[in-house]
Order: sequence, then C-alpha cells, then structure tokens
Amino acid sequence: MFDNLTDKLDKAMHVLKGHGSITEVNVADTLKEIRRALVDADVNYKIAKEFTSRAKEKALGQGVLTTLKPGQLLTKIVKDELTELMGGDVTGLNLTGNPTVILMSGLQGSGKTTFSGKLANFLKTKKSKRPLLVACDIYRPAAIDQLHVVGESVGVEVYSNREEKDPVKISEAAISHAKQNGFNVVIIDTAGRLAVDEQMMTEIANVHAAVKPQETLFVVDSMTGQDAVNTAKAFNERLNFDGVILTKLDGDTRGGAALSIKSVVDKPIKFIGTGEKMEAIDVFYPSRMADRILG
Ligand code: GDP
Repeated sequence: MFDNLTDKLDKAMHVLKGHGSITEVNVADTLKEIRRALVDADVNYKIAKEFTSRAKEKALGQGVLTTLKPGQLLTKIVKDELTELMGGDVTGLNLTGNPTVILMSGLQGSGKTTFSGKLANFLKTKKSKRPLLVACDIYRPAAIDQLHVVGESVGVEVYSNREEKDPVKISEAAISHAKQNGFNVVIIDTAGRLAVDEQMMTEIANVHAAVKPQETLFVVDSMTGQDAVNTAKAFNERLNFDGVILTKLDGDTRGGAALSIKSVVDKPIKFIGTGEKMEAIDVFYPSRMADRILG
C-alpha cells in the first residue's frame, strides 16, 4: 500500500536525518520534495501546497533549525499533518436507529455490493447486530444475484423484489420487513452507473429523502485517484453523505484519494476495503495510516 509514496517521503527526509546543523534552505528543499511526492501520489496540488506550508510553519516554530535531531522532529510533524489530512480522529458509525438504515452510494464497480456484504458481516460478528441486506438495483438483475451470493456467504438475509421497479418502494418495504422480523440494521445497496449522471443522482436522492438513513456512505475505488475526489464531490453535493468507504487499498493505489478526500468534502473516511474476501474490511484509523505511509 502506497509503497511509492513511502519511498519518496523517506528519500525526501533522508537529507535531514544526517545533518547535525541544518539551514532553512535544507528544510525548504525537504518540504519541496515532500510536496512533489504527494503530488506524484495524486494529491491535488493545492492540498499538497497547503500541507507543506503548514508543516514548514510548525517545523520552524518548533525549532527544527536548532534541534539535534531535525529528521525526527520533521517526521513527527509530517506524521501529524498526514493524520490531520486524513481526518484526525476515528469516526464510527451511528447505529442508533430502530432499525438503523445505512444507504450505500457510489459508481458501478466501486465495490458497493462487496462492501455491503463486508459491512453486514462486520456488524453481525463484531457488533452483534442483526443486519438485513437490501438489493435496490432495478436495472441489473445480475447485481441482485450478486448481493444474494454475498449475503449467503456471510449468512445474512437479502431482501429483494424483482417485480418492483421503484427503489423507494423497495427500500420502504424492506424497512417494514426489518421491523416485523427483528432486524436492527438495514443496509441498502443501490444502483450505480459508470459515471455520475442525473438519473442515478435523482434516484438515490429520492431513496435518501424517503428512508432518512442514519448513515449514507459513499463507496469509492481508491485506484481512481483524482477522479475519486471529483466523484466524491458530486455525490456529496446531492446527498451530503456521512462517510467515505475507500475500497481496493490492497492494490497498487498511489494514495491520492485517501489523502485528498477528507479535505475536499470534509467527511471522514470510515472504513477501507483491502481485498475481495468478506473479511477484508478495516476501520479507518488516520494515524495508523499515516504510520504506514511513513514506513
Ligand atoms: P459495485 O458495482 O459497486 O457493487 O462493485 P462490486 O462490489 O461488484 O465490486 C467490483 C469489483 O471490485 C469486484 O470484482 C470486487 O470483487 C472487487 N472489489 C471490491 N472491493 C475490493 C477491494 O477492497 N479490493 C479488491 N482487490 N477488489 C475489490
């Protein structure tokens, strides 16, 4: 994960690690390298620039020029800044509904269906919940089948109605079904398109307005870099979602999405997907991720 970025940050800070006495120029050069590494990892230029300005201010303010270990101090500052960039604290799910309704949004192929299954499994095994999965893709029968396969593999019931073509009605009927049968979490998997389009947005916005979810989660493929950030913006404008799920972090993603999304939409990353298996889900810890990035 983020190997390239880790390498580049390590090289950038290497210069300071050997120096007994350093100058403002050394620090500025190092930060310029750090900025370059972030931009290469697909972090938006403006975000990278603000990142390094803040790091510089802190470094000089905390006496990086006089300390005996400038490399160590700068590493700590960069780690804190990376943590902040990715959201600071851990943000859990609001599970206070009765039942709690979780609406999944995102483009087709982002990993929504897979993640719905992972989340159902996580809530069942780790939080002792009784989740119900709901298939709301009215366009692709294969998507309904896929959710049934996923549900079966984790032992979670899937609600679907192939005759009904209104996702609002499907969702409402699923919530009634949940109430009558003792399910305390309802996870609604919605239809996605290959690109943001008005019909998809209207459809999911209607479901959102009707079911008033406790959690609206936006699922995005971390491999899509800057596009991930643009898609997040478009969905957030319509849904004002509560959190982001970054999938495919097991691949050779450059990391830009993880590092930029929080500052662009100001919504926390709540979970990450790290593989195709149902167990490949992790709560997102900004500071642990910052540690991993710094190697
Ligand atoms: P949806 O169209 O948004 O519902 O996306 P799917 O859940 O069908 O996922 C699309 C593809 O990505 C499938 O082949 C999944 O197995 C794969 N996938 C989903 N999440 C992950 C992940 O975290 N890591 C990897 N490597 N593959 C994933």
